[in-house]
Amino acid sequence: MTRHVDVLIIGAGLSGIGMACHLTKEDTGRSYLILERRTAIGGTWDLFKYPGIRSDSDMYTFGFGFRPWIGTKVLADGPHIRQYVEDTAAEYGVTDHIRFGRKVVKASFSSADSLWTVQVRNEQTGEDETYTSNFFIGCTGYYDYDKGYRPEFAGEDKFRGQIVHPQHWPEDLDYAGKRVVVIGSGATAITLIPSMSGTAEHVTMLQRSPTYIAALPANDPVAVGLKFAKVPAALAYKAGRARNIALQRASYQLSRTNPKLSKKLMLAAVRAQVGPNIDMRHFTPSYNPWDQRLCVVPNGDLFRILRSGKASIATDHIDTFTETGIRLRSGEELPADIVVSATGLTVQMLGGAELEVDGEALATRDLVAYKGALLGNVPNAMVILGYTNASWTLKADLAAEYFCRLLNHMRDNGFEQVVAVPEEGDRSEASLMGGALTSGYIQRGDGVMPRQGTRGPWLVINNYFRDRAMLRKGAIEDGILRFTRAGRARVTADAVESRSA
Ligand SMILES: Cc1cc2nc3c(=O)[nH]c(=O)nc-3n(C[C@H](O)[C@H](O)[C@H](O)COP(=O)(O)OP(=O)(O)OC[C@H]3O[C@@H](n4cnc5c(N)ncnc54)[C@H](O)[C@@H]3O)c2cc1C
Repeated sequence: MTRHVDVLIIGAGLSGIGMACHLTKEDTGRSYLILERRTAIGGTWDLFKYPGIRSDSDMYTFGFGFRPWIGTKVLADGPHIRQYVEDTAAEYGVTDHIRFGRKVVKASFSSADSLWTVQVRNEQTGEDETYTSNFFIGCTGYYDYDKGYRPEFAGEDKFRGQIVHPQHWPEDLDYAGKRVVVIGSGATAITLIPSMSGTAEHVTMLQRSPTYIAALPANDPVAVGLKFAKVPAALAYKAGRARNIALQRASYQLSRTNPKLSKKLMLAAVRAQVGPNIDMRHFTPSYNPWDQRLCVVPNGDLFRILRSGKASIATDHIDTFTETGIRLRSGEELPADIVVSATGLTVQMLGGAELEVDGEALATRDLVAYKGALLGNVPNAMVILGYTNASWTLKADLAAEYFCRLLNHMRDNGFEQVVAVPEEGDRSEASLMGGALTSGYIQRGDGVMPRQGTRGPWLVINNYFRDRAMLRKGAIEDGILRFTRAGRARVTADAVESRSA
C-alpha cells in the first residue's frame, strides 16, 4: 500500500476534493492521497443530518468554479451538496486516491529531508500508520467533528424532556406533536424552525440576540429562464456565478461603507415579510449587517411560519431549565418536550492534529498565514480556509489554483522546499477567520486560529476580486517566499531574483 506521495491532503470535504481536482486539472504531475477520517466524502455535508440542512450560500458561488452546479434552486439541501462533491470526485478520478477511516494525529516536517511524516490512526482497525509526503495540505475545515459547542444550561439536569445538538442529531428523533424550543439565532436555528414546524405541535426559537435575516427566492428566476431557453448548463453557470459574486460583493460593500442604509434596507425587507403583528425587536440586531454572518431564508419560509403562528420567537436570556421547559429572565416559561441547542461549533484547526517542524511543536495560534493559505515558517504546508463573508468555495478554489501554480513553478525551477517567512510586524493579533466578523464561534476559536497579518500578502482582505488577482496573477517570487533547491542548497528569494535578472 502506498505510504509516500508528493502531496498529502487531509480531509475529503469540499476543500480536499477541490484541491485534488485542481492537482489533476492543472497538470502538476504530482502524486497525491487524501486521508479522510470519515467513511464517506462530503465533510460538513456528510456529517450534519438535522431536518432541512441546507446551504445558506447560493450554489452558483458555493459550487466549484470548474464544475457547474446543475439546478435552479438558489440554496441547496445537504444531501444534494454531498452528492455533488462525491460526483465531482468521481468525475476527476479522485475517489480512488482517498483512504477513508484515517485520522491524522500528528504531522512533522524535516527540513533536512524535505519531508513530512504524518502519523495516522486507522479508526476502522485501531492500527497506527505512517505516511510521508513532500507537501502537506490541511483541508480539515474549522471545527471539531466530535463535539459541537454546547454551553451548560442552569438546571438542565431537572429537565424531563430531551436536549439535542444539531451536530449529533438522533436519526430516530420523533418530534411529531411535540413542543420544541430551538436555542439559537444562526443559520441552523432558522433552518430548523420551518422544517420542524409542520410536524411539531409548536416550535419556539429562543435567541439571546437577533441576527440579520434576508429572504431570497427559492428558485433563481434567471436560471429557470436560461434552462427553459436551453442555454448550455456550463454557460448559464458561468453567467450566474459572475452575477452572484458581484451581487454578494456589492451587498457586503454597502454594509461596510454605509451601514446605516444597509441596516435600514434589511429591516424594511423583514418588516414587509413578517407583517405588522410581529415585534421587530426580534429581528433588529445591535450590530451592523455583516459584522456577523448574514442568514438567508428561501422564499421567506421562516417569516411565513412565524406569521402562521405554528412557530414563535422569544428574545430573552435563559434563567433556568425547569422540569417542563425553560424559564426566561423575564419570568416567561417556554414549555418544551424537546430542546434543540443550536448553539454552534467548537472551532478546531487541522482536525486536532499536532504540528511539528524540525522537532519543534507549533501552536496553530502562533502561526501567521501568507495569502490566507500558506503557513508562515512552516515549509511546504498549506491550509484551506474559505471565506466567511462570501461562499467558502470561492476562496478554496483560488487557494488550490495558487498551490498548483506554486508547485509548477517549483518543478520548473528545481525547487523542493518553499516557506513564507514573516518579518517583525507582519503578524497581527487578528484571527485568520476574524477580521471583519465578530461571530461567537470566531471569538471562541481565537485560541487556536492562526493569525492574519498587518500588511501585504499577510493581510486577509476577504475580497474575491483582489484575492483572484493576487492568487492567480501575483508574482510567485515576491521576496517573502524562500525556496530551497533540490540538493539542499538554501536559496533565498533575493538570490533567485538576482540570478533570473
Ligand atoms: C451546518 C453548516 C452549514 C454551512 N453552510 C455554509 C454555506 O452555506 N456557505 C458557506 O460558504 N459555508 C458554509 N459552511 C461552512 C462549511 O463548513 C464550508 O463551506 C465547507 O463545507 C467546508 O469544507 P471543507 O472541506 O473545508 O471542510 P469540512 O466540510 O469541514 O471537511 C473537512 C473534512 O476533513 C476531515 N478531517 C478533519 N480532521 C481530520 C483529521 N485529523 N484526519 C482526517 N480527516 C480529518 C473531516 O472528517 C471532513 O471530512 C457551513 C458549515 C456548517 C457546519
